[in-house]
Amino acid sequence: MLKRHPWIFSGAIDRIEGRPAPGEPIWVLSSRGEPLGMGCYSPSSQIRIRMLTFGEDGEIEPDLILYRLQKALRTRISMNIQEKSNAYRVVNSECDGLPGLIIDQYGDYVVCQFLTAGAEFFRQEIIEAIKKTLSPRGIWERSDARVREKEGLEKRCGPLYGDVPERVKIQEQGLYFWVDIKQGHKTGFYLDQRENRSIVRAFSRGKKVLNCFSYTGAFGIYSLKGGAREVINVDISPKALELLQANLKLNGLEGAPSYPLKKNVFHLLRELYAREENFDIIILDPPKFVSGKKNIQGGIRGYKELNYSAMRILRPGGLLFTFSCSGLIEEELFKSIVYSSALDAGKEVLVLKSLSQAMDHFYPMTFPEGKYLKGLMLRVI
Ligand code: SAH
Repeated sequence: MLKRHPWIFSGAIDRIEGRPAPGEPIWVLSSRGEPLGMGCYSPSSQIRIRMLTFGEDGEIEPDLILYRLQKALRTRISMNIQEKSNAYRVVNSECDGLPGLIIDQYGDYVVCQFLTAGAEFFRQEIIEAIKKTLSPRGIWERSDARVREKEGLEKRCGPLYGDVPERVKIQEQGLYFWVDIKQGHKTGFYLDQRENRSIVRAFSRGKKVLNCFSYTGAFGIYSLKGGAREVINVDISPKALELLQANLKLNGLEGAPSYPLKKNVFHLLRELYAREENFDIIILDPPKFVSGKKNIQGGIRGYKELNYSAMRILRPGGLLFTFSCSGLIEEELFKSIVYSSALDAGKEVLVLKSLSQAMDHFYPMTFPEGKYLKGLMLRVI
């Protein structure tokens, strides 16, 4: 607590006085009765309290939510993010002092997720603060992430304000994408990969690229714009691949050498090895394999196999962009998994660059858990 970390686990609590409602902000006192700050009570979650304020002056002011949202926006403005893209993360939960709340801006529209009892408690204030601060044409709720179960909350999706179209067109670093706000993954688009896409674009000239877990094709489109000779986009979801085709059109890439493949990446990588097909660049951006401590081992096996199989089909000197968005797989562990893949594949592997989430997904030094995306840009020989 004295380190200003926002989580208090159930085991650290001696007693709860009174009967706070789910999500209600309550005072937290030390064992000696000193006030440590205020946090939202979450009766079902292991993370029993998420702190909103720290210290004895931590009484929650009436406009706390509005002020935090304004501060979050100012921080993004200071990064000149709006000059690069009209789609970015405005509020990133604990990282912006608003635990459980995600707010993404997609052009004129806003998508939000209320992921904890505390975020749910402040629902109305949050909606009002979004209208006031971001003046969107519409707000859509996507509170369908699995973490809500741990908080004892049902899934909830739908309009919160205004009209939201089926697909929203966004601009990112000079390229255009359709975002399916209502049905797409998470809030519709993987904004956290923005900066890594630029790196891929810069290395693509003349290259044959395998974009694994392509979703709606963002990495593939950057790669084509960077002059790739051929891009194969692989995803298991037909809907994602449909949107990928529309995204090609949106960027004037109808006739470009881009090929969608509806396949399981794990199977495909083995098939490609058997067929002796090779690539100059492979991107591995899988979904989150590890959602809790129980499945860490399974996740490790998954990452190991993917990286091993990809390294085997890279041409000598080829580039591997490999990612993990599982928060529980820490950076060093991820590195060691990839290292053991390299040993098994019998490859010399050079780390050209460590990669992470885009800047609008920053994290405070007091909350290292906020860094969840890690990646490596590797030269595989
Ligand atoms: N790189 C993407 C985001 C990837 S999200 C971007 O920048 O936008 C992960 C994707 O993997 C999802 O689209 C999901 O449909 C797909 N997926 C999950 N498991 C898969 C599997 N075994 N084989 C192929 N695709 C899979």
